[in-house]
Amino acid sequence: MLPMPLLTMKFGGTSVADLERMRTVASKIKYEVERGYNVIAVVSAMAGATNKLIGLVESTSNLFDAREYDAVVSTGESQSSGLLALTLQDIGIPARSWQGWQVPVITTSAHGTARITQIETENLNAKFAEGMRVAVVAGFQGTSPEGRMTTLGRGGSDTSAVAFATAFKSERCDIYTDVDGVYTADPRIVPNARKLQKISYEEMLELASLGAKVLQTRSVELAMRNNVRLCVRSSFNDEPGTLVCDEEEIMEKNTVSGIAQTVDEAKISILSVEDRPGIAEAVFGPLAAAGVNVDMIIQTISERELTDITFTCPVNQVELAESALKSARDRGSVGFRGLVADTDVCKVSVVGIGMRSHTGVASKMFGALAKQKINIKAISTSEIKISVLVDQIYRDLAVKALHDEFGLNYSN
Ligand code: ASP
Ligand code: MG
Repeated sequence: MLPMPLLTMKFGGTSVADLERMRTVASKIKYEVERGYNVIAVVSAMAGATNKLIGLVESTSNLFDAREYDAVVSTGESQSSGLLALTLQDIGIPARSWQGWQVPVITTSAHGTARITQIETENLNAKFAEGMRVAVVAGFQGTSPEGRMTTLGRGGSDTSAVAFATAFKSERCDIYTDVDGVYTADPRIVPNARKLQKISYEEMLELASLGAKVLQTRSVELAMRNNVRLCVRSSFNDEPGTLVCDEEEIMEKNTVSGIAQTVDEAKISILSVEDRPGIAEAVFGPLAAAGVNVDMIIQTISERELTDITFTCPVNQVELAESALKSARDRGSVGFRGLVADTDVCKVSVVGIGMRSHTGVASKMFGALAKQKINIKAISTSEIKISVLVDQIYRDLAVKALHDEFGLNYSN
């Protein structure tokens, strides 16, 4: 007998938030089972469960043992996977829950941020051969080489889903969430934002790392590497969703596919740094060692051997950055006159693979912002992205103006 075709379906926390929603999810799975698919259903914890568990762990002590953090925090998914298996059984679908260690999903020992190294397929396949139609897998979970429970980091169930889709060569990986796809901009800011039918892995990667919360960045990287077709869709309706796929599959490449924004940015300027070879290393070395996530960097021209260096980092790392720089100065490895931090800034970006072959995108972007009298405080670019730093009060205005400028309101 030929093996049945397989689908991976991932359900986020809001999709399994209560038993009623689980019944909706179960009927979506039943639909695919009746079409002849075996299903690997990867679930997150019920909405809010993970935050609650993390809160409990943090209340025990400031310096908790990461192995016990994983022992506690992974239980959210244990619960939701068992409940969804029961819900499926109740409507007559042969379903069984699988914890990370039962599959097993082998990970590194980096508790709290483990990486998947291998997913064994024998156990699940043996049960599929015996008639199990749905394996309800606890997302986010794995087991270390030492045999302890591990977790993959916040949003990790997306990565679990892509890893299962890869290991089991599943036809598609459907990510069910509370939005019905990937939009040209956040619809809360731009009411006439459009849902994209398709978006390339690379664009999605930029959008995910720019804070579009639809998919965990790591899951997009993994999907791109393994060519897993990802479909982002809502568990609350039957709309087709957005396909994240290879750019070859996208005929008409938009110059700009989407506008993204992040608010948790801060800008730090280091004033009057002595300008000499090795100075960038002397500044950014200590920042890297302290774990500061530096994004944009600007160095102004120097006057009398002195220059100003400006960079951006997450707002919650400002103190960390300042103390790393001050202790570098105290050690004598870098000299500067002052530090100024600006935390009321945000980053607005335009993303599109068509940028590679179109010129004038940057000037169009700057023109649109100038028309709105929005001052640009820093700029950074990649092959398919241009980001600007602006005052936070202009965030929505900037996003709307750019959405309009690049013609994203109209269908193409
Ligand atoms: N439950 C985990 C979290 O909230 C993992 C996930 O939902 O993807 O981060
Ligand atoms: Mg999520």
